[in-house]
Amino acid sequence: MSATDSLRAAIRDVVDFPKPGIVFKDITPILADGKLFRHSVSLICETIGGTKVDKIVGIDARGFIFAAAVADRLGVGFVPVRKKGKLPWKTRQTAYALEYGESIVELHEDAVKPGESVLLVDDLLATGGTAAAAVKLLDELGANLIGISVLIELGFLQGRSKLAPHAVHSILTY
Ligand code: AMP
Repeated sequence: MSATDSLRAAIRDVVDFPKPGIVFKDITPILADGKLFRHSVSLICETIGGTKVDKIVGIDARGFIFAAAVADRLGVGFVPVRKKGKLPWKTRQTAYALEYGESIVELHEDAVKPGESVLLVDDLLATGGTAAAAVKLLDELGANLIGISVLIELGFLQGRSKLAPHAVHSILTY
């Protein structure tokens, strides 16, 4: 089996979680398997190609797991985009709608310096609302966003259309 096939086989579909009608893609079996977790991080690292990157930005909460591992692998910094009320310093915030509900995300004002090259990482792209909110905050700080990399893309929800003209890379598409 190829690396991507093994990852796909490990993802567990949980029907009607956290709300009726949602099929939740449970990635914990990937995290629990050392080889699969390493594969997933390697594949996300490869999406950057040879582009220079200064920081990896991860989205609360499952995005942190992959983003932090990618940052460590590349030897660059990690920046968290968090749900409202979790960051202790001065923040910028933006509200957005997501596949199941509504939310506000925040970023520390000094997390990224103007002109720094950043890659945005999350576990899953659904409607694209969360990633678009993070992109808005990064734009406000003057970051040079080199792309958005996710392990899983729910292609039928067309989330990447919200992220144009930024490059979106996904390892597994459904
Ligand atoms: P969205 O803003 O609609 O693109 O939603 C993306 C965020 O919600 C990601 O941070 C995911 O972790 C989470 N998410 C949305 N839909 C699902 C799903 N079907 N399975 C697992 N996580 C999801």
